[in-house]
Amino acid sequence: MTRAIMWFRRDLRLADNPALLAALAEHTDVVPVFVVDPLLMSRSGAPRRAYMCDALNALDDSMGRALVYRYGDPLDVIPALVAEVGASAVYAARDFAPYGSRRDDAVSVRLEASGVPLRFVGSPYAVNPGSITKDDGTSYSVFTPFSKRWLAHGWDRPLDAPRDPNWVGAPTVPCEGRPPRPEVDFDLPAFDERGVHAQWAEFRDRGTDGLDGYDQRRNDPGVPGTSRMSIALRWGIVHPRQLLADLHGTRAHDVYRSEIAWREFYGDVLHRFPDSGWRNLNRKMDAMVHDEGPVAEERFAAWCRGETGYPIVDAGMRELKQTGWMHNRVRMIVASFLVKDLHLPWQWGARHFMAHLVDGDLASNAHGWQWTAGTGTDAAPYYRVFNPALQGERYDPNGDYVRRFVPEVADLPTSIIHAPGGKGGAVPLGYVAPIVDHAVERDESLARLKALG
Ligand SMILES: Cc1cc2nc3c(=O)[nH]c(=O)nc-3n(C[C@H](O)[C@H](O)[C@H](O)COP(=O)(O)OP(=O)(O)OC[C@H]3O[C@@H](n4cnc5c(N)ncnc54)[C@H](O)[C@@H]3O)c2cc1C
Repeated sequence: MTRAIMWFRRDLRLADNPALLAALAEHTDVVPVFVVDPLLMSRSGAPRRAYMCDALNALDDSMGRALVYRYGDPLDVIPALVAEVGASAVYAARDFAPYGSRRDDAVSVRLEASGVPLRFVGSPYAVNPGSITKDDGTSYSVFTPFSKRWLAHGWDRPLDAPRDPNWVGAPTVPCEGRPPRPEVDFDLPAFDERGVHAQWAEFRDRGTDGLDGYDQRRNDPGVPGTSRMSIALRWGIVHPRQLLADLHGTRAHDVYRSEIAWREFYGDVLHRFPDSGWRNLNRKMDAMVHDEGPVAEERFAAWCRGETGYPIVDAGMRELKQTGWMHNRVRMIVASFLVKDLHLPWQWGARHFMAHLVDGDLASNAHGWQWTAGTGTDAAPYYRVFNPALQGERYDPNGDYVRRFVPEVADLPTSIIHAPGGKGGAVPLGYVAPIVDHAVERDESLARLKALG
């Protein structure tokens, strides 16, 4: 008779959970635990923590309320629990992010000292970061060749949820209670496996308004053209394998697969360059001059509030505040505006995103920002500066998106909605005049780039 601990982290699901299946297959019973780590809690924004609490609660329900919550540094908590319940192994999905991998290494060493292995099975990725390499064994720093190798590598079929798992958990094993759920003033999306799969099935089966039209509609923030799976992927309510298994060979499905590959690529890059979570991957860009002082700070505050006078930027920032999510196209537009129109470090924006996004994920966030800022892998060349008015006209041609989030411009004719005050029009009452002149700041940005040599 042997006992294992299943340590849940960002894999809050029962189906297609290889670590859990291995623990159950190799041991008589399993103690399911979630460690509430004060360090991680202090770094997560309220929307992300609220969603995590809901997801944990749903997971706990699905295991007959056996989940054991413990509080503290996992380095102390996990070995103490091992001794307390007499476990002979601990199972977990490997975490490849910087803090998680350092933590796991430390826990592993401490457990080994008492002869208990920390067994990693699977990860939040279809292909574990670090596995995709060139023929000479080196890693990729450009997306397209990475994604070709990633496709050729392939991944396993998703696994079913365990049948009648033999939990030994709460209340037999003392539980320190659920973490407090912060209040957020908007509804969070589905957080249980059934709800998330229903949401995915609705998108998958919606025909050309959903997955089958993904290639056509994914850039238009005014329509529900993307899957909104990022939040569930962040917490592992669904695994990318489960989504990939539903894809066929059409162009729309290929494009969707390729977006999942971006997530995998950024996970790989962050694993190989752990300090790229907050530092320029391309160190030459460290010399870029940024604005600072009270004016820069006030502009940053206006950007955060969604009061820049550029409707598509303001709509994005307000969408973030009001829903905890932002459309990918608009993430790129607001990021470009922060870096190239306001001349502020991308890290300021990335920190704000991490505080407000429910899907906030260090790898995708940092490298989404670095891509836009021209400091990362595969970076959009720095000199490609997004023009917010033109982006709005192109991707929100009817103005539906900005009307939804910027009511001050809702009554403007579509022809001027993305540049109120331009083309001889006046800024509508109650809305702000542009805080900077895009044409001027674009030139300024390019001059600063040139000065780098
Ligand atoms: C500045 C910036 C910051 C970002 N921060 C995050 C973040 O913190 N967390 C996060 O999950 N994504 C982030 N992204 C990527 C992307 O914007 C979101 O994954 C996407 O908007 C989520 O919506 P969706 O699930 O409807 O995506 P879909 O279009 O339905 O795509 C399916 C899945 O593919 C993955 N994906 C799609 N686009 C990207 C991309 N550009 N990079 C990486 N993965 C992608 C996501 O997991 C997504 O759920 C960021 C992008 C930018 C430009």
